[in-house]
Amino acid sequence: MSGIVTIAYLLAGVLFIRSLGGLSRQETASRGNLFGMLGMGLAAGVAAFTWWMRHSDSAGLGLAVLVGAVVAGGAVGAVLARRVEMTGMPELVAILHSFVGLAAVLVGMSSYLEPRSGEHAMAVAASALAGEPLSAARVIQLLEVWAGVAVGALTFTGSVVAWAKLRGTVTGKPLLLPGRHLLNLALAGVLAGCALPFIQAPEAATGMPWLVGVAVVAGVLGIHLVVAIGGADMPVVVSLLNSYSGWAAAAAGFTLGNDLLIVTGALVGSSGAILSIIMCRAMNRSILNVVFGGFGTADAPAAGSAAPPAGEVLELSADEVSRELLDSRRVIIVPGYGMAVARAQSAVNDLARGLRERGIEVRFAIHPVAGRLPGHMNVLLAEAGVPYDIVLEMEHINHDFEHTDVVLVIGANDIVNPGALNDPASPIHGMPVLEVWKSRRVVVLKRGMAAGYAGVENPLFYLGNTRMLFGDARKSIDALVTRVRDAAERAAA
Ligand code: NDP
Repeated sequence: MSGIVTIAYLLAGVLFIRSLGGLSRQETASRGNLFGMLGMGLAAGVAAFTWWMRHSDSAGLGLAVLVGAVVAGGAVGAVLARRVEMTGMPELVAILHSFVGLAAVLVGMSSYLEPRSGEHAMAVAASALAGEPLSAARVIQLLEVWAGVAVGALTFTGSVVAWAKLRGTVTGKPLLLPGRHLLNLALAGVLAGCALPFIQAPEAATGMPWLVGVAVVAGVLGIHLVVAIGGADMPVVVSLLNSYSGWAAAAAGFTLGNDLLIVTGALVGSSGAILSIIMCRAMNRSILNVVFGGFGTADAPAAGSAAPPAGEVLELSADEVSRELLDSRRVIIVPGYGMAVARAQSAVNDLARGLRERGIEVRFAIHPVAGRLPGHMNVLLAEAGVPYDIVLEMEHINHDFEHTDVVLVIGANDIVNPGALNDPASPIHGMPVLEVWKSRRVVVLKRGMAAGYAGVENPLFYLGNTRMLFGDARKSIDALVTRVRDAAERAAA
């Protein structure tokens, strides 16, 4: 029996690895998702079956609870997934990370209190009841519980704060308390300090208060770490919390003695960590700087405090923009968060197709942190049917702007801010951006002069070759599509 379970878990692990492999490229992403779903279905099914076999004495009630929990959780998940807008996806991901953290806390505490729920904990309790001295194995088992609860609580509160920041309920500006690094160190010290009395506690009644203390202190640390992070660093935080949620799940796997949970947690933890490093490189940030919230930025100005840009904001009408587009040979489209808000991706695809049919080269430039989720723009463009081969990442297209006639910036702001390169006072200084201003003409589609997520003024809007097309991006693009189509019909007539 245990051999079959091991093989099923191995298969699920392979499916998860294939899933991650598939998700690394747009062309194979759907297949990657399918592998992930199959792996998760297999893992959940085998876990439930194993539990049922072990608890056949009280299986009736337990099975009803298990099935009830899976059906209720699945139903809530399905409704949420159907209802969520693409613009709400980052918040959904952040809150899902918080659930993993909370689950790790609950698993750690329940397996400490109720030895039957975990093999390791069972051994711990058995040796404790027998009054045996602390064995190395027992210390390791209690440390697993301690680590699972600490990482889980940190992930839980940190993800809730990230969720609130992404929703705009909590300001995106960093909260930099005086002596914050000392406070972080002190909280980490208290966490470490709780481990000793927790491990030495002779029974659950005396150990539990220490474990609750660990959860509270780690929770406060999670809140403090994430509120100290500025808007521009949020992409890294989201992927870091993803990584933490994986390690929390792996810790829960150790506590429960579940190999697949350990493997899956480690896969999520390490892939999240790799993504965080990639995002840090893309934003020219050090990972330590982000993890410890504004580390080394004590003298940097707060978001939005850079000097207001000089120059005039000039507008164009949809007619004028369409004429400029039709007179071009090379066009680059830069989508940003505003395209997601306006749900303009299909209209943007229509515009790109219309221009390409008239022999104009159209390509898309994707910044790694555009939107509110890693890969946000790629997903939207793929959903709209934009061909993959004209969608290019920043490093592959940034040198082409100087040979481009018109750049359409659709609801993007921070990712095209020249201040990131040439204004040391800018809070986003040092972050590589799409150098759209090097093209002959830049047309920015947005509703007004509002700042982007980082809350920073954008000098691009005041440059001599920039023109604004104000309005909701969807309406503006629809107007451009109509004019390009009319021009094509006139040419054909
Ligand atoms: P920004 O948030 O910088 O700018 C979006 C712009 O879109 C706004 O200035 C807004 O201006 C405009 N906009 C909003 N709604 C509409 C609409 N309906 N029609 C037209 N325009 C609209 O987005 P970017 O994509 O340029 O940059 C992403 C930012 O988000 C970066 O700072 C990044 O660090 C951060 N971030 C990214 C995450 C990720 O993983 N990708 C996660 C968390 C944060 P107006 O209101 O005037 O229309």
